[in-house]
Amino acid sequence: MKVVYFFGAGKADGNAKMRSLLGGKGANLAEMTRIGLPVPPGFTITTEVCTTYYANRKSYPKVLKAQVETALARLEKLTGKKFGDAKNPLLVSVRSGARDSMPGMMDTILNLGLNDHTVEALAKRSGNPRFAWDSYRRFVQMYGDVVMGVQAHGRDEQEPFEEVMAALKKGIRVEKDTDLSARDLQELVRRYKELIKKKTGEQFPQDPKEQMWGAIGAVFLSWGNDRAVVYRRKYQIPHEWGTAVNVQTMVFGNLGDTSATGVAFTRDPARGKKEFYGEYLINAQGEDVVAGTRTPRPIADLAKEMPKAHAELEKVRRTLEKHFKDMQDFEFTVEDNTLYMLQTRTAKRTGLAAVRIAAEMVEEKLIDWKTALLRVPADSLAHVLAPIFDRKDRQQAENAGRLLCKGLAAGPGAASGKVVFNAEDAVALAQKDEKVLLVRVETTPEDLRGMIAAEGILTARGGVSSHAALVARQMGKVCVCGAQEIHVDTAGRQMRVKGQTVKEGDFLSIDGTSGEVFLGQVKTSPSEVVQVLVEKSLDPKKSLTYRQFASLMGWADKVRRLGIRTNADQPDQAANAVAFGAEGIGLCRTEHMFFGGDRIDAVREMIIAETPQARAAALAKLLPYQREDFAGIFREMRGLPVTIRTLDPPLHEFLPHESEQIRDLAEKLGQPFEKVATRVAQLHEANPMLGHRGCRLGISFPEITEMQVRAIFEAASAIQKEGIKVHPEIMIPLVGFSKELQLQLEIVRRVAGEVQAKTKQKIDYLVGTMIEIPRAALVADEIAADAEFFSFGTNDLTQTVLGMSRDDSGSFLPAYMEHEIFKANPFASVDQAGVGKLMKLAIEEGRKVRNKLKIGICGEHGGDPSSVEFCHRIGLDYVSCSPFRVPIARLAAAQAVLKEKNG
Ligand code: PEP
Ligand code: MG
Repeated sequence: MKVVYFFGAGKADGNAKMRSLLGGKGANLAEMTRIGLPVPPGFTITTEVCTTYYANRKSYPKVLKAQVETALARLEKLTGKKFGDAKNPLLVSVRSGARDSMPGMMDTILNLGLNDHTVEALAKRSGNPRFAWDSYRRFVQMYGDVVMGVQAHGRDEQEPFEEVMAALKKGIRVEKDTDLSARDLQELVRRYKELIKKKTGEQFPQDPKEQMWGAIGAVFLSWGNDRAVVYRRKYQIPHEWGTAVNVQTMVFGNLGDTSATGVAFTRDPARGKKEFYGEYLINAQGEDVVAGTRTPRPIADLAKEMPKAHAELEKVRRTLEKHFKDMQDFEFTVEDNTLYMLQTRTAKRTGLAAVRIAAEMVEEKLIDWKTALLRVPADSLAHVLAPIFDRKDRQQAENAGRLLCKGLAAGPGAASGKVVFNAEDAVALAQKDEKVLLVRVETTPEDLRGMIAAEGILTARGGVSSHAALVARQMGKVCVCGAQEIHVDTAGRQMRVKGQTVKEGDFLSIDGTSGEVFLGQVKTSPSEVVQVLVEKSLDPKKSLTYRQFASLMGWADKVRRLGIRTNADQPDQAANAVAFGAEGIGLCRTEHMFFGGDRIDAVREMIIAETPQARAAALAKLLPYQREDFAGIFREMRGLPVTIRTLDPPLHEFLPHESEQIRDLAEKLGQPFEKVATRVAQLHEANPMLGHRGCRLGISFPEITEMQVRAIFEAASAIQKEGIKVHPEIMIPLVGFSKELQLQLEIVRRVAGEVQAKTKQKIDYLVGTMIEIPRAALVADEIAADAEFFSFGTNDLTQTVLGMSRDDSGSFLPAYMEHEIFKANPFASVDQAGVGKLMKLAIEEGRKVRNKLKIGICGEHGGDPSSVEFCHRIGLDYVSCSPFRVPIARLAAAQAVLKEKNG
């Protein structure tokens, strides 16, 4: 078995296609070597070794040792350097590299091979003892931390190495790291080694081979560390994938002023513009840029500082895009004016940038439009629809002197929230439904949970490619970083900016598109796409974002087979959805209308009624309201199909429960308090979700269904008379038995007939049912005999198939995700193995009886990309989702077709 892949001098065992075996980094190092880019030679240990390592109680496959030895010998020969050599020592980096990049989640070790002897050789060869000792102290620090476990424990504790460094600096009265001399650094190494001995009882290893195996082990172990596990859970990266390990010859960006290190993007990853984007630090090592400890300079400055390297980088940038046909982000080092490439990968980008890059790459003929469709993660469109600051409110805030400072625009969108200074507080406050902004000096991967919980992230240090920025963009979070005027006092839970103090819990607002930070709350306003489509306040010609979004949507509509509908209960929601491209309403929950105006009084009167006559009187009051609501929706939908569901929720949801309110209601109804209170108590159910709800209401109180159907058809007739087409689809909820549907159908058909006869309007309508009870799916053939359409109510279907309350799953969901019982939240993404199997059965049984049976989905899953793909595969006719997710569903439906074709 081959477990080590070599690359160097224009040749490589691997290539870009071998991502799953070599990891993203390893595969692309091989590829870059093959296409002639300057890559320092090295070798990759495969992900299979990682998988085997975890499967076999953390032991390596037998073949590993010999293959690593061979590769190392080859590396020594190629570079003319030797591990541990007192004259010309080989130094390497040891880095992780999974199939999908997991920025900053796993460990890295640089300058490996340095020890008390080789450091002298490095000093001599470079003619720069300070550099040599600085490299050594960094190595000891990294190794001590990552391999030997000398770390801070607890959130307020200081990093032990930082503490030692601070004490040394204080002792010799210097402030910056760069003020430390070679001698100081030598002393620092001594103290670091002492610290390691004290904390672990062990000596820092001097043998480079021992160092290398230690580092390799630590990288494999880091695949299992807490933050990597959290990250994988969030992005659904399987644990079985494992990480590769890359061992690569070191090149030094910290050899002095002719050296530098940086990261760059072939385009702007925040907004997508085709301009060279990135940053670098002179005289620094790669980790300095990513860690955010020093704020780097924009890449454009390199043209002045190192013109030769800059020109070469421009060439690399073009070569990379031409070769990979996608935006790349890459790491480079300039060692004494010579450029080296250390990594390239498909760059993460915001939703906004994804749309722009896809559209422009089609224009540039780099890719075709179908490829463009696959380049935009459907979910990331949420980002294109994200809010920006309301212009007026922002101006007012600025006039009032609330513009505190400006940082780097790192994750677009605008966010406002209460400030917290650590990840745990962010999580805690967000759980209380508060909007939170996480403020950090710089973020580390440990902050991940807090970043997920926060609306936005603000850091005082770090550039646009710092950890905070990368992760925020990927999550679509608003992020401002490197706001240097902010002094964060993490332990004191406050920050100071230009003489102002902001404490935990105070409001801040940040704009990740401009980098501005405001004190207090600033109102947000909709994105350009929303301004064009929904508010109609922006001319589409003036918005490039909108036009590119519209191209993408146009392409999506060309290929998708699934229809896209929306869940809307109000005319304005329906209008928004149509603007976003909805082709009908898939679910109108009539009960949502009950809370508007003073409808609730009539609703309550109906529920409290004890006799059919009293109920009829209350229903008569409700009828005009419902008619008006339906008419509004029909008018807005202009002939598109509108699925209206008859009453569904348990009645007690509409009743007051406090005696004060019950007294009010009794007064309004002119009835004694006791009588009303008794009725409320009677309606109490132990398990209302499985109680008197859905079609069970219409069966015990047929007059409710009758009123609703009358309202629908009277509204339909009236609108049709206005010359607007109408296509109502009446949907009966929570059906499990065909007889239930038959009883309700009888009412629908009778009342529809009566209204049509009276108004002399023929209405084109359908009657169907929801499939949201397992029994309905099981006997779908019987039900299809009467139903003209099915719509999967996957919220209830998930609840009943899993036997898990949709309203109470929050309490155990985190544990279920942690133990990977759920790969994804089944209430957000269809449980394909369970619920999905039942859906397939229902489709098959239903279409046996009615081969053209129209089938859709209207549970929340209808707007989730992986569920949309599933719905496409199992042959649904449409998905229905909330209005703002309509574009996401359109794109996901197109991607489903393309993925099917690509296999
Ligand atoms: C469902 O159960 O999926 C559904 C759409 O109905 P509701 O969410 O209103 O129960
Ligand atoms: Mg339901």
